[in-house]
Amino acid sequence: MRDDFLFLIWGHGQDLWLVRRFREQAGRYGFDALDLYYIAACTPREVSRFCRNIFEANLRVVPYMWRFYYRGRDLVRKPCLTDPKYRSKVVRRMTELTEALYPYGPPGYTLGDENFLAPHGVDVCRSETCLAKFREYLKRKYGSLERVNEVLGANFPSLELLVPPTFSEAKERGLWALWAEHRRFMEEVFDEIHDLALEAIRGVDPEARVGFDGPGPTDSWHGYDWAKLLDKFRLMGTYHRLPEIEIVRSLARKGTLLGSWYGGYIAQRRPELLRWLPWSMLSLGYNSCWYFSTTHSEGAFAPDLSPHRHFLWQLPEMWAIRSGLGKLFVNCEKLHDGVAILYSQPSVHGATLSGEIEGWREAHRGTILALRDLGVGFKYVSYLDLRERGARALEGFKVLVLPLTQALSDAEAMAIEEFVSRGGFVVADLRPASMDEICRPRDGGMLSGLFGARLGPKPEPLDAEGSVRWDGLVLSLKSVRADASVKPEGAKVMGQAGRTPIVLVNRRGEGCAILLNFALSGYEGLRGNEEAEPLLSLL
Ligand SMILES: [Zn+2]
Repeated sequence: MRDDFLFLIWGHGQDLWLVRRFREQAGRYGFDALDLYYIAACTPREVSRFCRNIFEANLRVVPYMWRFYYRGRDLVRKPCLTDPKYRSKVVRRMTELTEALYPYGPPGYTLGDENFLAPHGVDVCRSETCLAKFREYLKRKYGSLERVNEVLGANFPSLELLVPPTFSEAKERGLWALWAEHRRFMEEVFDEIHDLALEAIRGVDPEARVGFDGPGPTDSWHGYDWAKLLDKFRLMGTYHRLPEIEIVRSLARKGTLLGSWYGGYIAQRRPELLRWLPWSMLSLGYNSCWYFSTTHSEGAFAPDLSPHRHFLWQLPEMWAIRSGLGKLFVNCEKLHDGVAILYSQPSVHGATLSGEIEGWREAHRGTILALRDLGVGFKYVSYLDLRERGARALEGFKVLVLPLTQALSDAEAMAIEEFVSRGGFVVADLRPASMDEICRPRDGGMLSGLFGARLGPKPEPLDAEGSVRWDGLVLSLKSVRADASVKPEGAKVMGQAGRTPIVLVNRRGEGCAILLNFALSGYEGLRGNEEAEPLLSLL
C-alpha cells in the first residue's frame, strides 16, 4: 500500500444493513481505505468487529482514535492536557485500541479530526497542572525569578504567583514576551499529548504512521507548531487551505501518509473544482486523497445507494490516478525553483501582537498565490531548521522569502545574513525581524544592516498609492498598506508611496536584500484583474 497513492473515505464500521451497503459501494467504486470514525469510546472487541466488517468491503482501516479538541471559552481547558489522569487514560486507550487494530495492518492512525488546543482568542490553560508546568518551563529556561522578570518585563514577587496574561492583558500591560512564552509553552503541551498517544500506539505497532487530520488555521491559539508536530508525525490529513497545505507538504518527513479532505462539501460542489482537487494533491506531493464522506448530507452515496452527481464528477480523475499514475508519482519528489519561504511559528505570535498592519495567514496566502501565478516552485523551510542548521538549511535555494516574519532569533537572523553573503537573495515585507523569538521588540529591526533600512519603534500604517521604477519598469500600485516608519539607511529606494519607501534594494556582494514595505496580503483579492499585473511584474 505504501507504494501507491491511496484513496480514503470517511465512514463507519457498524453491522447495520445500510451502513454495510455504503461500505460495499465505497469498495466497489475504488476506495482503498476507510477512515473509521471515532472509536475512542469503543471496546476492543467492537473495534475488531468493525475492522472485519470493513475488510469485507475490500477496504483497509485508518482508525480515528481520539480527538484533542476544545470549544469552550474558559481559561481552564476541559479536558486539561497536562492532567495526569487524562494523560494515563489516553495512553491506556491508545494501547488497548491498537492491540485490536494491529492485526488489520492500518496504513495510518489518526489521533482525531479537527484537533486543536483552543478556539481563536482563548488563552488556555490556567489549570493547576498547566500553571505548574509553565512555571517549571520558565525556571528551566531562565534559571531564576529575577531573570524571568527581567527578560519578560514582568514584576512577579514569586514564581508561584506567576500567571500568564491573556492577550488583551498582554497588550494593555506590555507583557508581549510573557504572553508569547505562554503560547509557545502551550504549543509544547499540545505537541506532547500527541507524542504520548503516538508512542503508546507505536508501543504496539512499531511501524505505525500516526498524526491527525482536519487542522484549523495556523494562529496563536490553535496550538500548531508545524515544525515540531511534523517532525514526529507520519500521517497528516489537511484541509485544502492555504497556507497550511503548502507548509505541511514542505515540512512533512519522508514516508508520511499525507492527505487532504475533499468531496461532498457544499462549498466544493463545482465540477471543475472537484476534478482538479485530486490532481492538485498529487502534484503537490501528497500521497493520498481523503473523501468526505460515505453518506449523510455531504456523502458520496444517496440513501438508495446511488452515487451523487458531485461524487461522479471526480470519479474519472480518481480512476485515472488509481490506474497507475498514482503509483508512478507517489515516490516522486516535488521540485522547486530555488525559492524558500520561511515558516516561523514565533512570527505567527509576533503578527498577532503587532497586528496593526496585516495578518500572518493572509500575507502567506498572498505570497503563495503570487508565486504560483508566476509559475515559480517553492518550498517552506522551518525556523527550527534554520536555527539548528544555520545557512545550511537553505542549501539549494537562491531566494528566501520572509512573509510577515517579524520574530526571529539571533541564530536565524545570522543564518539569513550568511545566506545573503554567499550570494542569496532575501525578500521580506513588513517589519522583518522587528522582534526576537519571544516577541520582544528590537530597536530598528535586527536585519536593518542587511536591508539597509531602519524601522521606527512602532509601525505607522499608511494606505496609499505606490509607484515603482526598476530597470526601465514603471509600475503603479493602486493601493498598498505600508509602514511609514521605515527610513532608508543605505538601500536604494526603487518605489515609494508618497514619501514612504515601499521597495528598497540593498546589494551585498553577490547577494541582495529586498524590502517590500508592504505585504502581499491583498494579492488574493486582485487575482485575475489588471491591478495584479504590476505586482507580478515587480516580483
Ligand atoms: Zn491545562
